[in-house]
Amino acid sequence: MIKFEEALRGVLTNTKRLRTTSLSLKKAIGSVLAEDVKSKFDIPSFRKSAMDGYALCAKNLKSIPVDLRVVGTVPAGGFYPGKVKKGECVKIMTGSPLPKGTDSVVMVEFTKNSPLSSFLPHRFASRNEAVGGGGRWGCNLVRILRRVSKGENVCLKGEDIKKKKVVLKKGAIIRAPEVAVLAMLGRARIRVYKRPKVSVLCTGDELVEIGHRLLKFSHIYNSNGPMLCSLLSSMDIENQYLGIAKDKAKGLKKKIKEGLKSDLFILSGGVSMGDYDLVPRVLRSCGVKVIFHKVSIKPGKPNLFGMKGETLIFGVPGNPVSTYLSFLILIKPAIEKLMGREISLKIEKGILNRDFHQKLGKRKHFLPAWIEMKNNRWEVFPVPTYHGSADIASLLSANGFMIVDAGISFLKQNSQVNIIQW
Ligand code: AMP
Ligand code: MG
Repeated sequence: MIKFEEALRGVLTNTKRLRTTSLSLKKAIGSVLAEDVKSKFDIPSFRKSAMDGYALCAKNLKSIPVDLRVVGTVPAGGFYPGKVKKGECVKIMTGSPLPKGTDSVVMVEFTKNSPLSSFLPHRFASRNEAVGGGGRWGCNLVRILRRVSKGENVCLKGEDIKKKKVVLKKGAIIRAPEVAVLAMLGRARIRVYKRPKVSVLCTGDELVEIGHRLLKFSHIYNSNGPMLCSLLSSMDIENQYLGIAKDKAKGLKKKIKEGLKSDLFILSGGVSMGDYDLVPRVLRSCGVKVIFHKVSIKPGKPNLFGMKGETLIFGVPGNPVSTYLSFLILIKPAIEKLMGREISLKIEKGILNRDFHQKLGKRKHFLPAWIEMKNNRWEVFPVPTYHGSADIASLLSANGFMIVDAGISFLKQNSQVNIIQW
């Protein structure tokens, strides 16, 4: 039996980052970037208006209010072809390019129709319409009620992202903002580290899939299958669910051979010492090299880790809390390493909220706990009703594990304890 730290080290030293691949941006969420991404152009790529309003030259607003002739309208996606002269302005929408001869935008809220509009000679009106013109409500003279300073309400070319700048570095995780920035740069495909193909197999004669009837009183629903698949989905990993294998060598072997085609293979149940715990034996008969079997943790002692070629194999004990914990502390770090991510597993310090007793154990204990930030420190409330590795319901009121080292039987309130949060 090895220590947890040794087991984790064993997993990580045998886990190699997967190769890179070109991926459509639409499928990239959750992947890790395998290239530095530079911008080929400035963003914004032109000087644009930050507001709906009137583009003008700030120094033309010597006296306020002032009436300006509206010589055109620029809708988003359009542009004003001419140059705006003294006494003129252009109606402009947010995101539209600023016309030549203008340097600022007065928000539409600080303007009104000029009462003098109707006196404007007819020839101006028709000229304005030719360039899509018209002031507020379609008038040709607009009254500017507030001064603006030069550059006000204008986004400068390149102010968000400069041309040739490295915008995203190799190793970045693609989240929604990364997707948006890559789309802004016009990238339809990006180079990322491959995401592992992960298979999940549940073993046990007693297991029945949800949606089916429990035919014997000794049957139970398979909860590890849905839990493991959900844990993988939450990491944006597509999984291949192989269903349930009975505790019979032949059928188990067939399913195991299927699972061994993936990058990472998780088997739940059948790794302990019972008469029907066939997983270690059958794995070996399929050519799997067992790196370790049994880790000095509670729950989760029967954990098995092996390899065949590049495939990583995890056999986790079937009691649901053991399965959950094993995923969190051994399997998740391996998946993160495979896909080029930083390992997120962090052991932090917290303060125990009450006295804590337990039977003296020879293994490192992981106990479900509610962990909360209070007065600038993590306060740890072990779930009082937790009664062992089958008690997955205790995790409903937990958001982490408190770690108690081997040999400790009593901890006083306010003691410092190690914690893992999820
Ligand atoms: P095992 O690891 O196969 O010895 O199983 C230990 C305990 O976990 C037994 O009570 C099993 O019934 C239970 N168990 C095993 N697999 C699952 C599963 N997929 N879902 C829920 N409970 C399970
Ligand atoms: Mg079993």
